[in-house]
Amino acid sequence: MIEFQDLLGGFVRIHILHHAVEGEVYGQWMIDELARHGYRISPGTLYPMLQAMEKRGYLTSRQDSDGRLGRRRKIYTATTLGREGLATARERLRELTGEVSHKSPTIESETGENVHGTQNRHRSS
Ligand SMILES: [Zn+2]
Repeated sequence: MIEFQDLLGGFVRIHILHHAVEGEVYGQWMIDELARHGYRISPGTLYPMLQAMEKRGYLTSRQDSDGRLGRRRKIYTATTLGREGLATARERLRELTGEVSHKSPTIESETGENVHGTQNRHRSS
């Protein structure tokens, strides 16, 4: 589970994609990386997410054959589709960040203007 998973699930997928474009990622590394960024995500949530992203064609995987303790782990990298998806997400994210990080319209409106630069209707005149 992630807090606000319904809202933040997309951020987590974009984060995974970002690292899978840069290099190879695997489940436990990704869990640690997400934790570093404040997302507490369990293997039970992350692994199905990785599998779904692979099924959707954003990631491709291979088995790491010489894992310690004889354990084989799945290593993921981004596909061309994944790279394209990330490029689009990056643009949208930049746009969204611009708007969402803006001061609250209700606070701005006290100065007589809202964020869109239009006058308040109920100003005294
Ligand atoms: Zn990261």
